[in-house]
Amino acid sequence: MKIKPKKSLGQNFLIDRNILKIISDNGNIKSNNTIVEIGPGSGNLTRFLIDENPKKIITIEKDKNLVKELKIKFHDKINLINDDFLKVDLNFLRNENIIFFGNLPFNISSQILIKLIKLKIEGFKIEKLILMFQKEVAERIIANHDTNQYGRLSIISQWCMNIVKIKDIKPSSFYPMPKVDSTLLSFIPKQNYLKLEKIKTLEHVTNVFFNLRRKMVRKPMNILFEDANKISEKLQINLNSRPQNISCINYYKICEEYEKLLY
Ligand code: SAH
Repeated sequence: MKIKPKKSLGQNFLIDRNILKIISDNGNIKSNNTIVEIGPGSGNLTRFLIDENPKKIITIEKDKNLVKELKIKFHDKINLINDDFLKVDLNFLRNENIIFFGNLPFNISSQILIKLIKLKIEGFKIEKLILMFQKEVAERIIANHDTNQYGRLSIISQWCMNIVKIKDIKPSSFYPMPKVDSTLLSFIPKQNYLKLEKIKTLEHVTNVFFNLRRKMVRKPMNILFEDANKISEKLQINLNSRPQNISCINYYKICEEYEKLLY
């Protein structure tokens, strides 16, 4: 059966064997790892993952035609779930040592990442994430403060993950070729990070700040706190700076203070 890639599902299949090998090698897969591949597509990466002999491989693919293909190709070497990754309940993975892989559909890549971060916060044993993003999104994920790319996605992603850029990847490594460059990132969960009651706090606080991206942070601080001056002094935050000038760690501390008001 010939596969006609669906644009609506972000289907750009990786065809460059060198890149596929780099992705699989960066997982550093051990025999006790459960591999979860998000959007396996035609199984190009899956084949490399199988060769690493993990404990098991679970693939989650939304396109039922591709799932049929994968079943024919790999039989019982993989567990196939035909569902939307954003909707699937992953509680059955709670006791597994998981490595997630995915050449992600670009239109929902940030939502997928947020779902994975939530799993980590909920105590899932995630060893690593090896994920492909549109280059521009990857730049936002790894951005430092004082840059234009810095924003909510950087702050939320870097909260509990150490993130390393593995490689930029050209459109010619894919079929069909995407219009943009891609970047492969590796995420390793942090042992120590500033614990918050809820990730919702971080989502809310960053939302309040970055909705007022061009304004001085005095404004969002006043929205969040009755005594913004006192909190700013304690955290040494300059109220005349802009949201993109505040470091990640300061955002986490702001969240900590905000939660003190709530709980
Ligand atoms: N990993 C493959 C395919 C990447 S293309 C490769 O590198 O060759 C992205 C894949 O994600 C496609 O197979 C697409 O069908 C699938 N996909 C798109 N949206 C999805 C969703 N919400 N849940 C699961 N898979 C999805």
